[in-house]
Amino acid sequence: MLRVVVLGAAAGGGVPQWNCGCPVCRTARTEHPELRSTQASIAVSADGDHWFLVNASPDLRQQLIATPQLHPRAGKLRHSPISGVILTNGEIDAVAGLLSMREGSPFTIYAHAKVLSILKANSIFNVLGEKNVRRQPIEVDRAFEPTLPDGTPSGIEILPFAVPGKSAWYLEGNTHPGGGVGEGDTLGLRVSDKASARYFYFLAACAEVTDDLRSRLAGAPLIFFDGTVWRDDELIAAGLGNKTGQGMGHIAMSGDTGAIAALADLDIGRKIFLHINNSNPALLRASPERKIAERAGWQIPADGTEIML
Ligand SMILES: [Zn+2]
Repeated sequence: MLRVVVLGAAAGGGVPQWNCGCPVCRTARTEHPELRSTQASIAVSADGDHWFLVNASPDLRQQLIATPQLHPRAGKLRHSPISGVILTNGEIDAVAGLLSMREGSPFTIYAHAKVLSILKANSIFNVLGEKNVRRQPIEVDRAFEPTLPDGTPSGIEILPFAVPGKSAWYLEGNTHPGGGVGEGDTLGLRVSDKASARYFYFLAACAEVTDDLRSRLAGAPLIFFDGTVWRDDELIAAGLGNKTGQGMGHIAMSGDTGAIAALADLDIGRKIFLHINNSNPALLRASPERKIAERAGWQIPADGTEIML
């Protein structure tokens, strides 16, 4: 069996974002605190005792406090059930939480060489010393089984694959430490339980649903999918910024080529949006956008939602 906990469902900045006065952020600060959401990350386990994070958000410390499954076991002075972190990209909302995982507990970081090169180029990540924190390169289209700190296989198989996307925003206009060309900056993951063969897909960033991706996701029991913006020009239209969803490497939920339309009729068991920006009106439970998404079979999860698969 696979157990998955949604640690956070929001895009970079979270809900509410520290400097944002948009309708969603204002509502989340005041009459609807249930709208508050931390930045996107999930935890997954095959045995319920050892857990792997998919991405480490800047809100990780708060997420760990709120998630009893990830607390140190009773009676142990120093311990964490977290055996590893799988990174799907190098954005701040995916890697900054690693800095909260210093203090000497052993775990492994699994990431594509391009993302590992970003960690290597930023000396602040040296706080995670080689003695305790292994950095394991992963490759596109090559499945791997993450291990527990003592080397025991986890029982989880992960297949990374390339997804249309962009390299991290803060690298725009700068030299990529891992080289400017080639895939690896944006990965999707197929995560499966080796014993039961149950599986799900995780795509926190995806700029386009290609035919290839449609065939891959068809029939999946569960997907977590990029829900950053409702419409491509949402930030511009709301006066919040000058970036489009596409400009940030994210497909919109709505529209003819949006995620809802592109992933309809694929016999997917459960569809969950993740990495939802605070500008996205689908976050508001009574909004017409939310109703459209829900009618199409999509869910917007609350932080802490646990799924057994
Ligand atoms: Zn906002």
